[in-house]
Amino acid sequence: MQIREHKEFRQARGLVVSIHDVSPRTWAATKTMLDDLAKWGVARVSLLVIPDHHQQGHILKDADFCRWLVDRAAAGHEAVLHGYYHLRVRRGTEGAWNRLVTESYTAGEGEFFDLAEAEAFERVTRGRDEFRSVGLEPAGFIAPAWLLGAEATRAVARAGFQYTTRIGQVEDLVRNEAHVSQSLVYSVRAAWRRVVSLGWNSLLLRALGSRPLVRIGLHPPDWKYPAIREHARKCIARALASREAITYEDWLGRQRSLTDS
Ligand SMILES: [Zn+2]
Repeated sequence: MQIREHKEFRQARGLVVSIHDVSPRTWAATKTMLDDLAKWGVARVSLLVIPDHHQQGHILKDADFCRWLVDRAAAGHEAVLHGYYHLRVRRGTEGAWNRLVTESYTAGEGEFFDLAEAEAFERVTRGRDEFRSVGLEPAGFIAPAWLLGAEATRAVARAGFQYTTRIGQVEDLVRNEAHVSQSLVYSVRAAWRRVVSLGWNSLLLRALGSRPLVRIGLHPPDWKYPAIREHARKCIARALASREAITYEDWLGRQRSLTDS
């Protein structure tokens, strides 16, 4: 994969705000977040949707949720496939490193961290076909906790997805190009993590400066903490001073047309 260098004069400066873990289980919180984002000037959000969240809430069993999602897509938001169950079945023969990554870093949510290609392909195509059955065509697949192993990456490209993202970059699978941009993300699992993530995200936003893309990844539990919500509001206001809120799909489309011209 090539790392694309952006020339200053060709930049399309964007802000992608994404909401992770959208499902019938997090629907109420997601609606509140979208309302707040709209008030703050973010009318286009990439919604990362889990088809069967922890095997306890399949989207196709909730017609109201599906209708809402289709309406959001029609209004300019984007529905992205985000894992299938968002849960990783623990293997009996885990090495220490795998255990550290999958249990500590992601709290056991790294569903696509080490899936074999065939299994990954089966899950991403099943999720995509279920999206299609309600009239949604997902351009992107983003793995839970951004953990997408090498075999699963091949499966996602083979299934025809246009892009995936990791915590440090957006990968255009059509052009085999990577756009480097570290995502802001909040950690809310412990008080010290919340404090550290506020400082880190402020530094990161400043470091991203005038780069073509700023990414802010939000999760429904973030909104339980007023300090995090307020911090996200300020970061978004700062970013919107010089950028446009856009979905991943549209930002990539724009990058492609800029480099074509
Ligand atoms: Zn997630």
